[in-house]
Amino acid sequence: MLEIVSHVNSIYNSISYVLLEHGTKECWIIDVGDFDVIKSLFDGYNLRGVLLTHVHYDHIYGLNELQADYPDVPIYTNEYGAKNLVSPIENLSSYHGEDFILSRTNGVKIIKEGNVILIGSYSLLVIDTPGHDYSCLSFCVDNNLFTGDSYIPGEKVFTKLQNGNKQLAEYSCQRLLRLGEKCFIRPGHSISFENCMNNYQADSIKKVIFDHLLQEKYVHD
Ligand SMILES: [Zn+2]
Repeated sequence: MLEIVSHVNSIYNSISYVLLEHGTKECWIIDVGDFDVIKSLFDGYNLRGVLLTHVHYDHIYGLNELQADYPDVPIYTNEYGAKNLVSPIENLSSYHGEDFILSRTNGVKIIKEGNVILIGSYSLLVIDTPGHDYSCLSFCVDNNLFTGDSYIPGEKVFTKLQNGNKQLAEYSCQRLLRLGEKCFIRPGHSISFENCMNNYQADSIKKVIFDHLLQEKYVHD
């Protein structure tokens, strides 16, 4: 069973998700804010990796604390995200008065559209969703769609920051909405439960993932 727990972070109400695979006792984190709290959510589980929906400060600021405790845990982002994890201007941390630079860049692994990451016995699909930022990725696993800031139900995608692109955001949003019809949407910022809950239909989303599995390659850490 894949259990998903979440924490609303202290900066901008971004949400970190913790994926607990009960069978293998492994754990994955999606976006890292208040790491001291997040850490308490996976007691007894083996942290296997971190997935980033994008590398804006409010979604990454706990990464150095995480690396202090777990120096060898891989951090997954796209090529653009990897660059910006060490660029305080691009990851917007300089605007928060705290220049964030990832301490251990050798743990960063590049992923892209169509990659599949195994989380115990579950397959997580990587979806490229640029628009809010070029580092934006969404993740689909076990009928959960983690959309980061690429799609927050009831809100317009914010594209006015540097590296935002309205046309790309609309395209990404449409793709996510299509996929999201059959999924439980788990966005990058806190909103009401009702807005997150879409039509929950397990079978169709499994088919979407299966179709990708047939044609795409696996990513192993
Ligand atoms: Zn953002």
